[in-house]
Amino acid sequence: MAECIFCKIVQGQIPSEIVYEDDKVIAFRDINPQAKIHIIIVPKKHINPMNEINENQAEIMANIFLAAKEIAKRQKIGQSGFRMIVNVGPDSGQEIEHLHFHLLGGEKLGKLVT
Ligand code: 5GP
Ligand code: ZN
Repeated sequence: MAECIFCKIVQGQIPSEIVYEDDKVIAFRDINPQAKIHIIIVPKKHINPMNEINENQAEIMANIFLAAKEIAKRQKIGQSGFRMIVNVGPDSGQEIEHLHFHLLGGEKLGKLVT
């Protein structure tokens, strides 16, 4: 996806502070953090969460959650806890059409829905 910001981050065309990478998943700090720790976890492959999620994505979903566990450990929030959020579609305020999980933590978080 030529114009996708997260594809450009995956390809190193846009700089980011990468905190985790394996062959299928990459994670980097959000440019506009909403908590002390705010990390975006994405599959390296472009997947649109609105219309491209199907059973073929089951494995990448598992990979993302395993990556989240490792990232939390590295960020030293594995015990204090964290929140994972996925925005899908207009009502969620989703800005970028490349499946991504927000991992938030490092402090006491507010209500789930604001
Ligand atoms: P969404 O609203 O689509 O769920 O979240 C997109 C997130 O990507 C936002 O939290 C926004 O701050 C972050 N973001 C947008 N552009 C960039 C960028 O170029 N670099 C990084 N690191 N984060 C970005
Ligand atoms: Zn993309």
